[in-house]
Amino acid sequence: MWLAELQFRLVSDTSYHQAEQQIRQYLEALIFQGQLIGREFPTYFAGDHFCSRVILPTEDALKPQYHSQRGQQALAALPEAGLSYPKLKLLGQDLMSSHTDPCQPAPGYLLFTNFAEQVSPLRCSEHFAPVPLFRLGAEKHSDYEDFIRWQLQYQALDEIQMQQQRVLPKSAENALQQLHSKLNRQGRRLARRVEQLSGKACYYYLYSGSSPDCQLEASKVCPGCGSDWQLSDHWHGLFQFRCDNCRLVSNIAWDCQ
Ligand SMILES: [Zn+2]
Ligand SMILES: [Zn+2]
Repeated sequence: MWLAELQFRLVSDTSYHQAEQQIRQYLEALIFQGQLIGREFPTYFAGDHFCSRVILPTEDALKPQYHSQRGQQALAALPEAGLSYPKLKLLGQDLMSSHTDPCQPAPGYLLFTNFAEQVSPLRCSEHFAPVPLFRLGAEKHSDYEDFIRWQLQYQALDEIQMQQQRVLPKSAENALQQLHSKLNRQGRRLARRVEQLSGKACYYYLYSGSSPDCQLEASKVCPGCGSDWQLSDHWHGLFQFRCDNCRLVSNIAWDCQ
């Protein structure tokens, strides 16, 4: 990941409100295309330009060919708000975040997220490294907003169920670990979309936090098709189960490990 600054010069008369709104719209479009990582973008006014601090998944993430239609429109609208097109200044590699997947394209994918990770929910099946969503291609009439919105809800529920004094004792965990919860149905639909876009397999991670009986945990079957899905080696050091039919991966319940 790269820490960068986007500078928007003042080129004609504008109001603070108008400029701020147009910058916000542009940054939001980049987030929903997976071109920016995270949600907080400190923006300040420096006399003759506005400046936003952003995290990019790759050095070239803001190339116009990666923009969604919404991104192109938001970019084109900047001059109407009295601003220049943004000037990118790369500040350096972010030492605190994981490295973006080197494959172009990845041989396959996993959809995986958790409360702690501020990275793309799409992972390379070989390296388990985050893959920026824009690498799936710029679609004509949509972007990856539904992936980002799914990830936000997933992370919020995961954050809740990690707490000692949970405010939603069981419902957060159920949403994460039941195959047919609304969250997981959404997630699996997104994994199918990755497959349509890429032509490669995309596995969906099914969280497993607790189990009614830890003795039986290692011999549990795939919740999708009932087949034996235990792996002899842990996949990426995290997953003890994988079903190639249902394209699901999971772990021995954390409470039983
Ligand atoms: Zn890879
Ligand atoms: Zn299965």
